[in-house]
Parts: sequence; structure tokens; C-alpha cells
Amino acid sequence: MSVWDALIGQQESIATLRDAAAAAAEIAAGGDGGSGRMTHAWLFIGPAGSGRSVAARAFAAALQCERQGELGCGECAQCRTVNARTHPDVHSVVPEGLSIPVAEMRAVVGRAARRPSLGRWQVILVEDADRLTEQASNALLKAIEEPPPRTVMLLCAPSLHPDDVMVTIRSRCRLVSLRTPPADAVASVLRDDGIDPGTADWAAAAGQGHVGRSRRLARDAEARDRRAEVLAIPASLTSLGACLRAADHLVSAAEREAAALSAGLDAGETESLQVALGAGGTGKGVAASVRGTAGLLKDLEKRQKSRATRTQRDALDRALVDLAAFYRDVLLVQAGSPVAAAHPDLADDVIAVSRAIDANGALRRLDAILACREALDLNVKPRIAVEAMTAALRLPG
Ligand SMILES: [Zn+2]
Repeated sequence: MSVWDALIGQQESIATLRDAAAAAAEIAAGGDGGSGRMTHAWLFIGPAGSGRSVAARAFAAALQCERQGELGCGECAQCRTVNARTHPDVHSVVPEGLSIPVAEMRAVVGRAARRPSLGRWQVILVEDADRLTEQASNALLKAIEEPPPRTVMLLCAPSLHPDDVMVTIRSRCRLVSLRTPPADAVASVLRDDGIDPGTADWAAAAGQGHVGRSRRLARDAEARDRRAEVLAIPASLTSLGACLRAADHLVSAAEREAAALSAGLDAGETESLQVALGAGGTGKGVAASVRGTAGLLKDLEKRQKSRATRTQRDALDRALVDLAAFYRDVLLVQAGSPVAAAHPDLADDVIAVSRAIDANGALRRLDAILACREALDLNVKPRIAVEAMTAALRLPG
């Protein structure tokens, strides 16, 4: 199985990356690799679940792969170690947890300036470029502006929005845009994973192009329950009280999810940091001596808090995407459209709501959901934004 097989419905991007990997191999062998087929900095963008980091890692493997003519074979030692995240010349930057973003970025950039030890290139892979601090972005920008000859930088971000990627970084990167994979492609992957065909088709539709989400829905009963609870909301909104209860339910469920994740990560991180600081002495503790132990702990707490906020927001956003698809299904039913529904298992509720409201009403409710997403993006308190939304979703009469 080649490394490209993990990318679903992305034929165009794969063709570009394969061509660039072939050019890179020529360059590494002393050739010129043709004009502009290979560049030092790449930016992978695409909606959540489209496989940005999968694409970047596949490309990293192809850049190192030993098998000429089939770069990214997935079987040679280079490909396997890249996939296992143990390749010495592929450096992942994960700006989360214990690492101090700007310090980590500088260290990685420094290491990547050396000659490759086993592979042809030094690869820096930043899976969440949108999570870099400004200083870390600046450290990265410097490397992109003056790239060492054998260094390739692969960045992943949700979009080209300046909040996601600094404009100055974006303008120096070659873009790889991943698209939302079609449901039949996702279903076929789930079937290959051993999921029965009925569940695979259902989960592919319900995941709405998010491969990871479809996988979870196919395998995880809790994820299915949460989705069912969210999708029971539209038909239940017959009074203001019901609207407020629904809002409370959505927000509390997201809070619980964030709390569960934090409980699993925070304590361990804080303890590791304390141990590192206590045992660090002067060598490792240079940063500590400059900024103080309390400062580092405070930094960590800040990152943990922002991770919890992000998790909560991601959970809410997933619910909103499901709700929006529900009203899209309502519109499809009202128009008698043969387009496949996102939530075929909720046909009864969809039909009931499609009779209670007209097409304008469905569009207004879609707008209310989008407005809620925007408000959350602008840091409006989740409870306020979600209550405004569920009140707007209320059924007439
Ligand atoms: Zn290989």
C-alpha cells in the first residue's frame, strides 16, 4: 500500500505532489529537477478531516523514499519510518503541551539546517500551523525566506485566512488545496477498514466529508449517541423552554467533552514540566533562568486553557455542522430533490420539520446556525450565541 492510498478523493493534489517528489529526487541526485516543479515551502490547506496532515506526511515519505519510479511506496525503510514518525530527517512540530512554541520552532529549524542523515531532505512538518504563536511564526518565516539547500517545509492549516497563516508565510509557500472527499470515496475506505457496507454508507454520509468523523461514527457508539442527541433538537423546539434546554444541552455536552480531554492531559503535562524544571539545572534550564519557573508554568496553564476552549469550540462546531445539514435535508425534501440526504436515518424528523416550516423558514434557520458559528469565531460566549440560535430555530405554533 503506497503512502498516497491514505488520501481520499484527492487525485489532483496527489499528482502535483508525486511530480514534485520526482523533481526533488532529481535535484538531490545533482540534476535541476525541471523548472519550478519542486519548492522549499509548501502549505496544505483544506477543511477539517480532508487529510491535510496525511497529505503532508505522504509527501514527506515520498521525498525520502528509496524506490525510484514509485516514490512514496509505503514499504521501504524510509517510507515506514516517516509514517511511524521516527525518521531522523523528518521533524514534526506540534505546538502543544510541554513544548515552548518559539523555542521548539527555533530548535527544529536549527536541526533541519544540517545535512540529511539518512534521507535526501530535511523535512519540517508543522501539522497545525494555525496554532503557532507569532514569534514561532516569525522563526519559521526566517527559515522559509532563507532556506538551507536541503530543507523542505510542509505546513498544514485549515484555510488561507490571516488568522490561520501569516500573510508573509503564505505568500512564500506553494499551495496544495485539499477538497472535501466525496461520500462514496469515504464509504469505500470504511469498507476496506472492515466496516459492513450498510454502516459504511451511513457513516460516510453522516460524516459529511470528514473522514475521521465518519470513522468514529462507524466505530464508536458514544459518538453515534451524541450525534443522535444533537439531531433530535430541531423537531423538539416547540417552545422557548425547549429552545433554552437544547442550548444548555449543546453547551454542556461540549464543556464535558473538553473537560474529559483536559483531565487526561493537563495533570501529566504540569507534572512533567515541574520535574523538568527541578531536574534541569543550568543546561536545560536556560529559558527557566531567564523567564522564571512561575512564568513557564503560567505559559503552560495558558496553553492548556486555550486548548480546552478550542476543544469545546470544536465539539460545538461539529454539532452545528450536523444541525446545518439537517436543515439542508429539510430544504431537499421541500424541493423534492433527489440529492442524497446527509442524515437519511432521520428522515422522519426531517419530513416533520419540512411540513412545519416553509423553504424561507429553513433558509432562515440555516442562517441562524451560520451566524452562531461566526459569533463563536468572534469569541462571543458560547451560551449566549447558542441560545440565540436555538431560539431562532423554534418551530412555529
Ligand atoms: Zn518508499
